[in-house]
Amino acid sequence: MSYDTIRKEDPELYGYMKSELERQQNGLEMIPSENFTSYAVMEASGSILTNKYSEGYPGRRYYGGNEFIDKIETLAIERAKKLFGVPYANVQPYSGSPANLAVYLALCSVGDTIMGLSLTDGGHLTHGFKESVTGQLFNSVPYHVKEDGSIDFDELRRNVKEHKPKLMWVGYTAYPREFPFEKFAEIADECGAYLVADISHISGLVAGGAHKSPVEYAHIVTTTTHKTLRGPRGAMIMVTDKGLRKDPDLDKKISKTIIPGMQGGPHNHTTAGIAVALLEASRPEFRQYAEQIVKNAKALSDEFSRKGIKMVSGGTDTHLILVDLTNFGVGLGIFAQEGLDIAGITVNKNTIPREPNSPFYPSGIRLGTPALTTRGMKEGEMREIGGLIAEVINEVKEYRLPQGKEGRQEYLDKFRAEIRANAKLADIRRRVVAISSRFPLYDGMKMW
Ligand SMILES: *Cc1c(COP(=O)(O)O)cnc(C)c1O
Repeated sequence: MSYDTIRKEDPELYGYMKSELERQQNGLEMIPSENFTSYAVMEASGSILTNKYSEGYPGRRYYGGNEFIDKIETLAIERAKKLFGVPYANVQPYSGSPANLAVYLALCSVGDTIMGLSLTDGGHLTHGFKESVTGQLFNSVPYHVKEDGSIDFDELRRNVKEHKPKLMWVGYTAYPREFPFEKFAEIADECGAYLVADISHISGLVAGGAHKSPVEYAHIVTTTTHKTLRGPRGAMIMVTDKGLRKDPDLDKKISKTIIPGMQGGPHNHTTAGIAVALLEASRPEFRQYAEQIVKNAKALSDEFSRKGIKMVSGGTDTHLILVDLTNFGVGLGIFAQEGLDIAGITVNKNTIPREPNSPFYPSGIRLGTPALTTRGMKEGEMREIGGLIAEVINEVKEYRLPQGKEGRQEYLDKFRAEIRANAKLADIRRRVVAISSRFPLYDGMKMW
């Protein structure tokens, strides 16, 4: 695969794709939900399988010609069941958000009470955020984290008693510690709620044995396939033995909700990519990969501690770190994110627990190690990179956003002009490029 055809047929698009490859190659990708798929995953998901319609499930399709598609989907399903130890897996959800919506629609009626971690405390939009349909169709009673970053179980137990939820989510998008599956199972079992573990962020760690599995605790497990699992953009819904004991029709309810309930034809090229990713994730090398992700995150957090950079909960058990910048100033997230961008380090601004500023201009940044670990980086590089991040924070830490809207845009424009002209940041960028060039992306693939 050389993209020669795109180059000839659509030079404008080719130019953008090439620039994006160079951005990925030369920078340090530290957004914890991103990763680099293998070349085999890309071959599968960029293949002729995109040509076929196959509404339905293997052996039960609305269209003819699905002999081989059936085999491919069955392969993906069987690999998922084996890897995660579940009796049912659905590999058709188009992405994580529709997978989660399907779970609600399979289990809840409009107006039922649901509970998830508040978005600003590290939960996902689809766990009942007020501006998501999941917060509008259902009575969302969010739970929160305490000052120290751990789940506030006192509040949760009080709310569970009072509101008797139908469904509870455990699993997060900005939570650096091990997910407390047992405690949630205890609470959900007491009140009779369905417990859904959303392991989108950590499914690769679970598959590789670097994080506890939710399978014995939850009734349903959802996950994206493109984060630590390192597959194509897609998602899976799995039903556990515990789930089938609670409700023997749970598997059928999920199947029916996906199609005909919510979706039409599955993305067969994605299904094939998921099959490849699941095979890769079942290999011993993937266990090493998962362990290295966590070791790298710990090395990075150690370096931050040495440099006086505060972290929510003081560190990490996983792939993810939430930096709390409030000891330098409130609302610094945007300045840190954009300063790091100039230096070639990609992270995102993020709220911290008890965010003292507006969620649009939060006081933290979220970063993680899955993508850098895929490139082969280890603890030594993490310490080096932690030092560079500290230097960038030092360059931007005096900036303060004007309180009101008045003058805010002008201030940001001035900030952006200044960081573009900042010689220190330019020097850090050169060091970033030097590090990333030691770990070539898609080495030997001759993609361009
Ligand atoms: C990423 C994520 C999702 C949503 O996935 P999309 O594919 O972006 O729709 C859902 N839940 C959690 C916890 C996530 O981290």
